[in-house]
Amino acid sequence: MSESKKFLLPEKDIPTAWFNIIPSMPVKPRPMLNPATKQPITAEDLYPLFSEEASRQEVNYTDNWITIPEPVRDLYKIWRPTPLVRARGLEKALGTSSHIYYKNESVSPVGSHKLNSAIPQAYYCKEQGVTNLTTETGAGQWGAALSLASRMFGLELAVYMVKVSYNQKPYRRSIMQTYGAEVIASPSMSTKAGRKIITDTPNHQGSLGTAISEAVELAMSTPNCKYALGSVLNHVALHQTVIGLEAEKQMEMAGEYPDIVIGCFGGGSNFSGIAFPFMRHNLSGDRSTRFIAAEPASCPKLTRGVLQYDFGDESGYTPLIPMYTLGHNFRPANIHAGGLRYHGAGAVISQLKSDGLMDAVDIPQLESFEAATLFAKSEGLIPAPESSHAIAAAIREARRADEEGRPRTILFNLSGHGLIDMTAYDRYLAGDLANYEVTDEEVAANTSTLEPLI
Ligand SMILES: *Cc1c(COP(=O)(O)O)cnc(C)c1O
Repeated sequence: MSESKKFLLPEKDIPTAWFNIIPSMPVKPRPMLNPATKQPITAEDLYPLFSEEASRQEVNYTDNWITIPEPVRDLYKIWRPTPLVRARGLEKALGTSSHIYYKNESVSPVGSHKLNSAIPQAYYCKEQGVTNLTTETGAGQWGAALSLASRMFGLELAVYMVKVSYNQKPYRRSIMQTYGAEVIASPSMSTKAGRKIITDTPNHQGSLGTAISEAVELAMSTPNCKYALGSVLNHVALHQTVIGLEAEKQMEMAGEYPDIVIGCFGGGSNFSGIAFPFMRHNLSGDRSTRFIAAEPASCPKLTRGVLQYDFGDESGYTPLIPMYTLGHNFRPANIHAGGLRYHGAGAVISQLKSDGLMDAVDIPQLESFEAATLFAKSEGLIPAPESSHAIAAAIREARRADEEGRPRTILFNLSGHGLIDMTAYDRYLAGDLANYEVTDEEVAANTSTLEPLI
């Protein structure tokens, strides 16, 4: 292992505003639609579900910079700014002439980037007098983050956790419970949506789609209760831009600018967070960085999905979102990167991808764990199974650069650590993990009935 080089910023360099990419986009994303009327969703339409400020941010097509409230910035100081690290150990292990950097979001108290959005979402709810929150969680990262954020502002939280993760990742459940949240395995018998899913498919192991349906139903049927989502939506991507804004300054300290920026991809929040601040320099014509979203081969919405209006959840409670999707009924294989098991990509990402302003790759499960163990051995950190997809993509790019004899500066986001995911590592080390391929027939079967884009 060689000594890796860290670039640290002082607290005063925590950004004072988030970057909203929408006003800079050459083609704006299509609006979300009300499924009943097919009319564009307004901020007011979202008020029953989200805090009013998050609702306004969701449809803000005009302001590039949104001020971060001081109480939120103060709480960011618990772990931000996060380190940017030159991964010399990994470079050496690969024998690459490229320079590889990673932004280490795993240093947050809950071990992932998710707290960057959990804190402002809980704050805005508290400010308007909300008392209860509800949400879904896949691998448990978002649930853990919102549990802590709810605690910070004295809000009660109920978390619907995808059943397969509830069983595979009991410690994430304990973390949420330690912060005082109530955790329910989804699909559950506690909602109409859950009961219907269980009736139709008794062994349903849950997905982010089922958990979102249940959480949304609870929020809509409980007074003074709001829902918070950990990915996909514009306001979540917005909050995550603190990652890229800090990284931009840190790359400057390192005396470099990235040729390639990579993030793993579930619904798009950590990818957007690291990518959008750099992408603004592409959109203004000043740079030509390549952006790569790394998704699992078992849930390849950006590389194999279709761009259509689709629901964000399994039961069809959410607005229609213009997204690259595998269909809201798509049931991804039970891979260990639980946070990447989501059928669609956010509206902004989908438009950027469709316009050729970013790329996507899909990574088989075994390749992600090979990358993860190489990273652990060479850098010392055990990455989250989700983040390992970004590492695998970075390794592919470094190898390609060497083949082409053109060294690159590669930056990826380490979205979280894997210390609570050791069951997954155990299974990998025991040779028990497999790759999962999605057939074209599966994609066609789940997407053929979707609403066309208009
Ligand atoms: C949730 C999660 C992801 C995937 O979600 P995005 O919104 O796509 O970022 C990736 N990495 C980690 C560690 C996560 O917890």
